[in-house]
Amino acid sequence: MCGIVAYKGEKNCYPILINGLHKLEYRGYDSAGITSLDKNRFQTTKAAGKVKDLKHKIKSKSFSSKIGIAHTRWATHGEPNIKNAHPHIDFYKNIALVHNGIIENFESLKKFLKSKNISFKSDTDTEVLTSLIGYFFSKGNFSFEDAVRAALQRVEGAYGIVVINKNNKNQMIACRNGSPIVVGVKKDEFFIASDIAAIVPKTNNVIYLEDNEVAKINKNEEVQIKTISNENKHPYVQKLEQTLESIEKGGYDHFMLKEIYEQPKSIIDTLRGRIDPKTNDIILG
Ligand code: GLU
Repeated sequence: MCGIVAYKGEKNCYPILINGLHKLEYRGYDSAGITSLDKNRFQTTKAAGKVKDLKHKIKSKSFSSKIGIAHTRWATHGEPNIKNAHPHIDFYKNIALVHNGIIENFESLKKFLKSKNISFKSDTDTEVLTSLIGYFFSKGNFSFEDAVRAALQRVEGAYGIVVINKNNKNQMIACRNGSPIVVGVKKDEFFIASDIAAIVPKTNNVIYLEDNEVAKINKNEEVQIKTISNENKHPYVQKLEQTLESIEKGGYDHFMLKEIYEQPKSIIDTLRGRIDPKTNDIILG
């Protein structure tokens, strides 16, 4: 339903991220946002509406940066509005994050963070995860990557995330558990997305993350993959032979067939986070 696109390279990230978000629009969403990093400062723009509204806001400011993360949100926790749109920035303003999915134990994590005098600006489960990583990174003795893993070890739920930190414009970290994440690799450029449709126009060399894997992207280095519990994994770079059109059709001859066969998955995605598993009540925000 929702979408993630991220870029680190030598080009201005904005056109790449906006085009990537356009490729994910078919999935449906309620708001969109981009955070870029330049001179140790985050620059965030959000729109409660369409990607074209976001594009319009950005155009009027003419930004440029070589690293950025972007998102189209399908709200599960908190209304679809600018305050709740992603990316989220942590309480200490050191990290920015985009997230697809649901943090099921966000209430107990939020209580823990509040006990550490951390306050929140949005109603989302995502901001809780963002500030949990930010807490370990800013207050604990953790590297950026270790802070992400420490936080994820305490999280229950489904997620695909990309995180960047203010002090390192060369690094991005991505992780998945239940929500897809794919990393595209090209000379001096890295792309991350929740769907290869956003990557294929740029590169055919991709790494699909498995559940519980964390990918560290660093300028001039190969992608490093570890599990959340810190085991090394070998990154398997696949060469995609399909065209963008056949990827978008998901292997079916026609879009109509694809839509028919995707109905069970679409229903699961639509209802995710909207049924309380304890009471079976339906939650419609
Ligand atoms: N649960 C998150 C939120 O409500 C992410 C939703 C999504 O997957 O877009 O903000």
